[in-house]
Amino acid sequence: MKKYELKEEYTPRGIVFIPTFNCTAFCKHCNNDFKKHDLSQKMDIDDAVRLLYEGKKIGLNSIQLTGGEITLYPEFMLSLIPHAKKLAMRVCKPPTNAYIASDSKKASEFFLKLKEIDYTSGFRLSIDPYHQEKIPIKWVANFILEYGKHFKLSSLTIGSSYYDKEEIFKLYNEMIDILKKQGFSEIKIDKEKKFILINGFKIKYGIWKPTRPAWQELEDYEVELKKIEKTMRCLGPKGVGYLWVEPDLKVRVCSCNGNTFLDFYIIGDLKKEKFEDIIKRTKQNKIFKILANYGPAGLRDFLNLKEIILDPEKKYTFMCELCNEIVGNKEYLKIIEKNLEENDKF
Ligand code: SF4
Ligand code: SF4
Repeated sequence: MKKYELKEEYTPRGIVFIPTFNCTAFCKHCNNDFKKHDLSQKMDIDDAVRLLYEGKKIGLNSIQLTGGEITLYPEFMLSLIPHAKKLAMRVCKPPTNAYIASDSKKASEFFLKLKEIDYTSGFRLSIDPYHQEKIPIKWVANFILEYGKHFKLSSLTIGSSYYDKEEIFKLYNEMIDILKKQGFSEIKIDKEKKFILINGFKIKYGIWKPTRPAWQELEDYEVELKKIEKTMRCLGPKGVGYLWVEPDLKVRVCSCNGNTFLDFYIIGDLKKEKFEDIIKRTKQNKIFKILANYGPAGLRDFLNLKEIILDPEKKYTFMCELCNEIVGNKEYLKIIEKNLEENDKF
């Protein structure tokens, strides 16, 4: 009997669109590698709409919009959402650094148009010292103010990624002070249940430490290092799998952190190929098959099948960091291929 069974196949569930990699913040902890991308490139809206219909036909039932900063290209979102709604595709909450609210009028027009197309997914606002080096907290407060004129504030969430929680709460309090000056009377933070109550609406927040690889070097004190033991089957039917479509229509195998760094994860080009053909080909890739069955800890098991090559005690910030270490090493990949043959002989 084989030591490892590889029954599950690579099975994406949805599409992540990157309308642009450009951003206004260039945060130190960003998982996009800005040096690798053409920041002037924007995804063509007609292409994105075509991909939406093509994806739906083969069972890709949800979409995410991310970047870069999506509000640098608001027409993309405004054009795509009505089609996603027509196709009954789930639209996940997009992240934003609130850049659009640097101009209240522009933000107000954007939210009004979103309301008109019956947008319901909300946004995830990024607040932390890395972001606020470039994005003043008053823009975030402005975003909340303008958004609240058209939508329930409880459809917003806040994500904060920094090593020092107290610094994050200082920013939350700064934002609250600005909102109070704008006439919001009832605002308080519930640290136990992790939400900010604003005029009766709960905005949930999440705080975590940054992960590697990041765009710029992160010191050990900025991240949380842990041993990676068992990992989720990240690319399989039992895991989360989103095809990651870049502005030039190159497609990557997943939408995880490390995804944007290594060419190994590029699985096709939607200018020349269809989703269906790309997925069919990707199912044949043995490395992705291991990931679909055991996640990156499984990749490490295959690497270490005959001798310990990568120390299982080594610490990482996140499972994708381990994945990157393995797939970015050609020697490791050769050993895994060989060990896969051994496994098949069991
Ligand atoms: S973390 Fe978000 S806001 Fe910061 S550079 Fe990356 S995409 Fe831009
Ligand atoms: S572990 Fe690897 S395949 Fe899985 S989500 Fe992360 S980078 Fe993608």
